[in-house]
Amino acid sequence: MAQYNGSVCRLCRRENQKLFLKGDRCYSDKCAFERRSYPSGEHGQRRGKFSDYKAQLREKQKVKRTYGILERQFRRYYREVERRRGITGENLLICLERRIDNIVYRLGFASSRTQARQLVSHNHILVNGKRVNIPSCLVNPGDIIEVREKSRKIPLVNEAIEAVERLGIPVWLELNKDAYQGKVVALPERKDITMPIEEQLIVEHYSR
Ligand code: SF4
Repeated sequence: MAQYNGSVCRLCRRENQKLFLKGDRCYSDKCAFERRSYPSGEHGQRRGKFSDYKAQLREKQKVKRTYGILERQFRRYYREVERRRGITGENLLICLERRIDNIVYRLGFASSRTQARQLVSHNHILVNGKRVNIPSCLVNPGDIIEVREKSRKIPLVNEAIEAVERLGIPVWLELNKDAYQGKVVALPERKDITMPIEEQLIVEHYSR
């Protein structure tokens, strides 16, 4: 599976927003964005011209980078939700939230989505008692997500679980910390996604 392997802090600086891609470090004073909140590189502090196209592109890039998805797959999600009833931008975000790697992160079994993706692809996660190793797999209401018994000793999982109070669990998920188990109570709604995102700009970008 193709993925971005460069510096992730660079992405936050580029998008001018904390994307929380590095787990605990994002909440510490070591966060690169807290120290330098302008794009990296020689021309990073120069302000480019503002245009609608630029705003749309940046919004799309920001969401892609937050969820760790590359262009081809992101476009595929967009084309899929475009055919569904409802508001395309909202449906896109809800679809991204339903990915199993995101759920593992949101439940606090991993401190970042990258770490969550690794847990999933290395067979550490069960959905309804069955192993699932495809990070893009979508969950449904009622699904039970758990860390495999053998994997409950992994220090990264335990550290992440300990930190879960700080992050909070979304209202549409339920966590049983002691059982390393979570439940999807309902599908997320737009208001449950608190990160500042203007999804309409993404729709405009792909509708050009
Ligand atoms: Fe972004 Fe986290 Fe790096 Fe800060 S530490 S710049 S929030 S990835």
